[in-house]
Amino acid sequence: MTAADLACEVERLKGEVKALKSLGLKLDMARGKPSPEQVGLSRPLLDAVNASSDLTDEGVDAANYGAPDGLPSARRLFAQILEVDPAQIIVSGSSSLNLMFDVLAHGFVRGIQGETPWCQQQNLKFLCPSPGYDRHFAVSEHFGFENVPVAMTATGPDMDQVEELVKDPAVKGIWCVPKYQNPTGVTFSDETVRRFAALKPAAPDFRILWDNAYVVHGLYPHEEDSLLEIFSAIEEAGGSNLVYEFASTSKITFPGSGIACVAASVEDLADLRRSFGIERVCADKINQLMHTRVFADVSAVKEHMDQMAQVLRPRFELVEAKLAEQLGEVGCAAWTCPRGGYFVSFEAPEGCAKAIVDLCREVGVTLTGAGATWPYGDDPRDSNIRLAPSYPTLQELGGALDVFCACVKAVAAAQELERRS
Ligand code: PMP
Repeated sequence: MTAADLACEVERLKGEVKALKSLGLKLDMARGKPSPEQVGLSRPLLDAVNASSDLTDEGVDAANYGAPDGLPSARRLFAQILEVDPAQIIVSGSSSLNLMFDVLAHGFVRGIQGETPWCQQQNLKFLCPSPGYDRHFAVSEHFGFENVPVAMTATGPDMDQVEELVKDPAVKGIWCVPKYQNPTGVTFSDETVRRFAALKPAAPDFRILWDNAYVVHGLYPHEEDSLLEIFSAIEEAGGSNLVYEFASTSKITFPGSGIACVAASVEDLADLRRSFGIERVCADKINQLMHTRVFADVSAVKEHMDQMAQVLRPRFELVEAKLAEQLGEVGCAAWTCPRGGYFVSFEAPEGCAKAIVDLCREVGVTLTGAGATWPYGDDPRDSNIRLAPSYPTLQELGGALDVFCACVKAVAAAQELERRS
């Protein structure tokens, strides 16, 4: 485009945005919440336990204290989901993020496996593959770690960078979402998993926080991404005590009222019990019972997730169709087309993400804050925007995407015009 053509285009796009603004929209694509339709699929859980139910689970009374590691059926269910031994699992609480916080609190207050507690060590660091999940970064920041970004690639975190950084004994951990990563949708390749499993960190109290939040969350049944099981890979590499793995049913059943687990080596699990045993008498086993009465095994979970996928898939396909149609030819942006998980990761032209998110808000569309996918909310290229298409209806989503595309074009064109002048 000549400068004159570009100036005309900027004016035209401004007019388009103004017209959208006059519609008085109020749409939200900010957080990855399941839609009411998805959550509704889990209503049978509410009938699974009632006043006349047998409340025992393989000899354990779910209606009383006891079984601090969780009900046998719940440990077995998560063991099947994560492909590990039930002896490696503690099922507790309704939030995996809560368990991640507890694990860091254990390292901070007591120390991992008898090492000096992190609160008595100085200038500690945590590795944050970016773009990544803002709430992970918030937890390590909360405990005083310096969050260090690591590049995300199409096969997982940049392992050359990770292998180099863990030579520093001040580096105590790394956040990972190994399957359908939040927000890129990337599943770590076998090579990435093997390199994680073979890591030789300088710090004996370094751990990988392997948050398998989207382990059964494929959008295309029978075409799921496959993720190498990390504990077997560690065993093959001759290692031990390297990973805490997490999962929950937040995006399988009821967000906030699901069940959650941590998996670790037998020694690491014994170590965690030293803090967990102080913190809680036992978990909410009635909720665990509700879940395992409906989901007897992993195949029942997968069937349920196939139904979820039917609701989610058209939303993700709409995102791809709208972005391709409205931005494909413009060529100023790139985005992921995930096969699972909850997000699409959008790369705007450098220096435009904040302005796009602000303009969308003015027009009535709320997006995840620009920069949220980076430690301290600081995306060095001001480029990444996380799109969360699960909650709005298809119609609302279509409207929100039209606004989004118009704002991307308007901001990018204005920036290009300014650059040229
Ligand atoms: N981990 C990731 C990667 C997430 O995207 C989310 C949000 N669903 C969570 C953890 C939070 O999970 P929970 O509700 O189990 O705390």
